[in-house]
Amino acid sequence: MNLSFLKIPLLDFVGSPLLVAAFGLLLWLQARCSLRRQRFAALGRIVRNLVFAAPAFVVLRLALVPIPLAAAVWAAQHDFGLLHRLPLSPVVAGALGIVLFDYAYYWWHIATHRAPLLWRFHNVHHTDLDMDVSTATRFHFGELLLSVIWRTAFVLATGIAPLALIVFEIVFECAGQFHHSNWRLPIGIERALNTVLVTPRMHGIHHSIVQRETNSNWGTIFSWWDKLHRSLRIDIAQDAITIGVPAYRDESELTIGQLFLLPFRPQRPWQLPNGEKPERAPQPADKMAA
Ligand SMILES: [Zn+2]
Repeated sequence: MNLSFLKIPLLDFVGSPLLVAAFGLLLWLQARCSLRRQRFAALGRIVRNLVFAAPAFVVLRLALVPIPLAAAVWAAQHDFGLLHRLPLSPVVAGALGIVLFDYAYYWWHIATHRAPLLWRFHNVHHTDLDMDVSTATRFHFGELLLSVIWRTAFVLATGIAPLALIVFEIVFECAGQFHHSNWRLPIGIERALNTVLVTPRMHGIHHSIVQRETNSNWGTIFSWWDKLHRSLRIDIAQDAITIGVPAYRDESELTIGQLFLLPFRPQRPWQLPNGEKPERAPQPADKMAA
């Protein structure tokens, strides 16, 4: 069996060290300058998220990246896919491929909330009771396995170049770490960044226990898609947000073993253990709330 498709030096020797460094830097920044008050002990949560993520890292490295990459190599060899049909320079085609991939992820993220089977897995990510940079790793390996299928289909449809695909992966993971982090950026800087990028305050609202707030801010890298489709919500102050899923508020039900089993258990409706549904009236704001 030829396993040479598993060799991805750009990812292993540039991307991964960069991502580990970014993770360390964001850990330090969020400890030094916190955005939301953490309600649960941070160290235990961070260790739990990283241990839970171990099988997801294996799936990422052995399937989620190499399988679509093999498809991208094949597409390049056969001039297959939309980007090969357009008269674009390789740099422009690569950049366009990265932007399109982020747009496709916007729709995939909506699907993970709306399709019951996908939500069973994505729910695990949202059950984190506080949100910080470690939440970016808290994905059930099943969710990653399911996304191999559509990622490969996307690569074949667009013909995104192999190099652009690896660059996308590194930028995508970096963006996820950044917007999940609990780093309090000065509000003026965050508002400016948010004209282009998904930022920590924007994504914090997506992790709220209020369903209307969770059903917004689907973007990963660029904030444009939420603006384009009117799903952007920046009106909630971070202090007012309770992070998590209302039916899963008990830490003892969210151990590593329980998290692996969660997708295979009956799913609870979007309500608090006392049966109430968390609500909050919309507070329309032109500028991002602090
Ligand atoms: Zn989500």
